[in-house]
Amino acid sequence: MARSLVLNATYEPLAVVPVRRAVVLVLGDKADVIHAGSGTWRSERHSVEVPSVIRLRYFVRVPYQRRAPLSRRAVFLRDDHRCQYCGRRAENLDHVIPRSRGGAHEWDNVVACCARCNTHKRDRMLSETGMRLVRPPEAPTRLSWVAVAVGEVPDPWVPYLAPSGASPVSRHSGDFEIAERDLPPMATSA
Ligand SMILES: [Zn+2]
Repeated sequence: MARSLVLNATYEPLAVVPVRRAVVLVLGDKADVIHAGSGTWRSERHSVEVPSVIRLRYFVRVPYQRRAPLSRRAVFLRDDHRCQYCGRRAENLDHVIPRSRGGAHEWDNVVACCARCNTHKRDRMLSETGMRLVRPPEAPTRLSWVAVAVGEVPDPWVPYLAPSGASPVSRHSGDFEIAERDLPPMATSA
């Protein structure tokens, strides 16, 4: 299904929505098309270019403390399907600090892991194993969030997803799953 990237008024990426939803926002004068996709969207009364990227005309505040949900798929995407101990293809998730030792089921304690490393590590702390992480696990970046939402990122979206130090909400703007309900209600009179 074709989708559109929704940017906040500040150009912050906010959500990924079905194209029809993006068209409704544009026709309702709530958003402008920043980048047109290929093809035309048609209804009985309208014929418009398919929007690939739209920008809201008003600012949506993204709640500060909301965090994106942790899932197996999301961890695998963040870690590029590679074991974070040896680099082989990952098959499992591993808690760096084992749950039996009080380790949390959080982004900064869960990594993709191959079966062999998973078996070798068992419920031990890293310091007890001689194993090392390829990189410390962190909550995903915007880019990987969009990847989680759509499977792959269309080229025209990439410039809008690049990390920007200037952005005040960048740390938490990856929350694509919840963002859509912050958007304006569907207009019925489009
Ligand atoms: Zn491994």
